[in-house]
Amino acid sequence: MSSSNGEPKLRIAIIGGGMGGLVLGLCLKKYAADTVHFDIYESAAELTEVGAGVGMSSRIWSIMRELDLEEELLTITGTRDRNGFPDFWLRKGDEKQPVDLLHFAQVHTFQRSILQQLLAKQLDAGDSIHFSKRLISYSEVSPTDPITLNFKDGTTATCDLVIGSDGIRSAVRRTMFSGLADEAESRGQREEAEKLRNMIDPIWSGEVAYRGLAPANTLSEELSAYVLAALPQILCGKNGNMVIYPVSGGKLITVLATKYTPGAGMVYDGLWSEPTTGEAVVKEFEGWDPRALGLIKAVQEPFAWALHAVRELPTYVKGRAALVGDAAHAMLPHQGAGVGQAFEDGYILATVLAHPSVTLANLPAALAVYDDVRRPFSQGVRKGSQRNGMNYQLRRMGWENVSAEDSRVGRYPRELLRVLGEEVGKQIEWLRSTSILGEREGVVERLAALSA
Ligand SMILES: Cc1cc2nc3c(=O)[nH]c(=O)nc-3n(C[C@H](O)[C@H](O)[C@H](O)COP(=O)(O)OP(=O)(O)OC[C@H]3O[C@@H](n4cnc5c(N)ncnc54)[C@H](O)[C@@H]3O)c2cc1C
Repeated sequence: MSSSNGEPKLRIAIIGGGMGGLVLGLCLKKYAADTVHFDIYESAAELTEVGAGVGMSSRIWSIMRELDLEEELLTITGTRDRNGFPDFWLRKGDEKQPVDLLHFAQVHTFQRSILQQLLAKQLDAGDSIHFSKRLISYSEVSPTDPITLNFKDGTTATCDLVIGSDGIRSAVRRTMFSGLADEAESRGQREEAEKLRNMIDPIWSGEVAYRGLAPANTLSEELSAYVLAALPQILCGKNGNMVIYPVSGGKLITVLATKYTPGAGMVYDGLWSEPTTGEAVVKEFEGWDPRALGLIKAVQEPFAWALHAVRELPTYVKGRAALVGDAAHAMLPHQGAGVGQAFEDGYILATVLAHPSVTLANLPAALAVYDDVRRPFSQGVRKGSQRNGMNYQLRRMGWENVSAEDSRVGRYPRELLRVLGEEVGKQIEWLRSTSILGEREGVVERLAALSA
């Protein structure tokens, strides 16, 4: 509802124009165009999603359909396949001859940069996004005064609500949890204060992921035949896994190969991401299916990423600030769910903010509904992604007792293969069998009670 003078009921600052921030903006545009005004502040000088692929499950596809993006997305997948999501194979791949474990319908796949450009285009990016604006901190001095945003370039801006979609090293999370810790300290709760301060920095998982795209037209005949016969697929192995699938109608092959170092600490000494070479990556996966290694070698400009995650946060909201996406729950990529969870946060938060019963006065109560719905769900996904990584990397379900050498030469009880396939099948079932649309209805019902 706009006020009697035609002003929007809320002025929102979205910090970060990654895919999470863009979808939040699109949802606000769709559900609350007349009642809220939003600005996106992005630290980069332009939108810069790196290459590589991203998957979209049926949960997320339904949000894209709501945003009227289905047709355009089908065009860029190149498949025109509206209902039939491509089937993935799960295989044990750290042997010369891979072993089939599970076949599952899963996701539409995209090249990340193309998906990001499509989202930005819908948003009239030129109007809504302010580039080269790195947030340092925000201050909310009272429940009624505007929030002040402080940027690295020395400028400030104001808003009624600040949303942190600024990724894994979120400045909004830093301000929010420093504030919560200070408040705990002023109540004399020193241990609680320390716990809250610990939530600010992400922790290393012990894993490094190598990621990039291989152009299909550079592959040998043998590798091209392998791509057609075997992909998309996930290869499991001792202390490592690979996810390999085509994007852009098969013109490019995405390779994500992850290596776990047993006993690694929670702090990574080195750059979080840096260029690497195919030869260096192949060395990490000695003895794996040689055709998968051939695809790794064909990747152009591979990058290494030390995989970090955010600890389990006790809240995503404080006063008139909220966290979405990686800022709230950066997770390991082992269910391909990080982007989707960011989209879901944006979709539900926009539903909350667009609701007629939500005003500046009851904003903290409305944000509590967002927190109550999204935090348990996304934390469940975050934990599931960690567990699934351990499945893929043969670190649980009996596989922890099998050495790398035994795994490579096939010296393990066959029963473990069945157990692994079933476990992964159970773990990822939620992607297929649950719906975000039902969750949205529940949120709308709860918001109606706000005004009652
Ligand atoms: C190696 C690897 C593989 C992955 N694979 C997958 C996958 O297959 N599927 C999947 O779903 N997910 C995957 N993910 C996770 C996925 O990339 C993230 O979950 C997703 O990008 C989160 O979106 P976001 O918008 O919350 O954050 P981001 O994409 O990180 O966007 C944050 C934005 O905020 C901007 N920003 C940062 N700080 C500031 C600031 N202080 N002020 C202003 N702007 C700021 C950044 O420039 C950026 O544009 C993977 C991650 C990694 C590292």
